[in-house]
Amino acid sequence: MRVGIVGAGIGGLTLAHALRRHGIDSVVFERDASPEHTAGYRLHVNEAATAALRDGVPAALLGALRACGTGAEAFRQFSIFDHRGRIRLRLPAYDGEDILMIGRRPLRAVLARDLDQVRWGTPVDGYTDTGDGVRVHLRDQPDTEVDVLVGADGVRSRVARRLLGRRGARPAGVIGVAGKTPLTARTVRWVPPGLVRGPGFVIGPDGIGSFLSLHRPGPSTDPAAEPPYLVWSVAARTAQFRTDPLTLSPAELVAEALRLTPGWALTLRLLMRASEVDSTAAFPFWFPAALAPWPVGRVTLLGDAIHPMPPTGGAGASTAIVDAVHLAGDLAGRPPRAALTEYQTRMLSYAGDAVDEARPPLAWQRRLANPVLRAFATEVLMPIANLAVARP
Ligand SMILES: Cc1cc2nc3c(=O)[nH]c(=O)nc-3n(C[C@H](O)[C@H](O)[C@H](O)COP(=O)(O)OP(=O)(O)OC[C@H]3O[C@@H](n4cnc5c(N)ncnc54)[C@H](O)[C@@H]3O)c2cc1C
Repeated sequence: MRVGIVGAGIGGLTLAHALRRHGIDSVVFERDASPEHTAGYRLHVNEAATAALRDGVPAALLGALRACGTGAEAFRQFSIFDHRGRIRLRLPAYDGEDILMIGRRPLRAVLARDLDQVRWGTPVDGYTDTGDGVRVHLRDQPDTEVDVLVGADGVRSRVARRLLGRRGARPAGVIGVAGKTPLTARTVRWVPPGLVRGPGFVIGPDGIGSFLSLHRPGPSTDPAAEPPYLVWSVAARTAQFRTDPLTLSPAELVAEALRLTPGWALTLRLLMRASEVDSTAAFPFWFPAALAPWPVGRVTLLGDAIHPMPPTGGAGASTAIVDAVHLAGDLAGRPPRAALTEYQTRMLSYAGDAVDEARPPLAWQRRLANPVLRAFATEVLMPIANLAVARP
């Protein structure tokens, strides 16, 4: 069997490795020219996904991923701050769980290693399911035939659109602007103290929130390793942006993030101002348009192509990894239709829960746009809860 994979993102690359482990041939079509063409920041890979990686990718590759990232020791606490930068609540986090925190660029670069079946710079325009195979339509190149096609082509998936007859994603009405600030002797002084124990979230006025996280992997000789940085993001409702952030340059996005956060702690604003300007990007948040079964043929979907989710749950990449390893296992030793039926049923049984994890933080951000509620939450409720959490 030969499996075609559209997209050499996190899910598509994991799938190519996992298929190889089962002795199944694959070809990956990726529109980016190389794995280095990756923007993005530190991602949190949860325990289900690290277990899937152990099953799906070679041990040496998992070792390289760990060398470029950090584990549970970097996520002992989740802090909630007010916009003045004061910690209001410290929540204990992972205790001994096997998690991995790694930048998107090293994650993709390492996963792309040893995979000579990736055709970089090869956008897919569409496909035809012929019943006994799938003809893949490549841009400016001849069509190619595979036995099964997997759309791992992310939130604006063409494969999903063709397979489902509609878009796979709907906008959540919130957009994040995110950036990376290198940690230097100067910038490190502005980092809120709680962040050394793990990431945090800032509750600001008008329903504007900010996610902050330090990424300080240990020294590594791996060529994909990154120097330490702080990730910041400012999330606001689409209507709160002065103009469509997707049309703004990175420098304009930094200015927009600063415009959305007047009166915030000077140190937080200095951190945004000190970001590597080219690292700044806007990310609309998405939900699945519908997570419902589709007729099974020889084409299927994984990751953001079928279950996009806002980063507030921190589970999108992890779920894509889990999908990929399940799908490879289902394809091993079964005819395509039976394998894809099995995969679809299983994936739909857990993907909705992962999407739901992203909802409460967004709902709270909306509610706390009310200034009275926000003051009550940050001045009364959270400090009391903090005392209760701190009590042994
Ligand atoms: C700011 C931010 C923070 C996040 N933080 C986390 C986190 O901490 N933890 C977590 O688990 N998730 C996180 N996520 C979500 C995570 O990034 C996604 O869920 C994950 O990347 C999905 O993987 P994927 O393989 O499905 O898609 P992608 O990684 O998006 O890969 C899709 C690939 O398909 C390619 N492609 C698209 N169309 C075509 C085409 N027509 N032809 C060929 N190639 C094509 C693209 O170039 C891309 O390489 C975050 C997302 C954002 C925006």
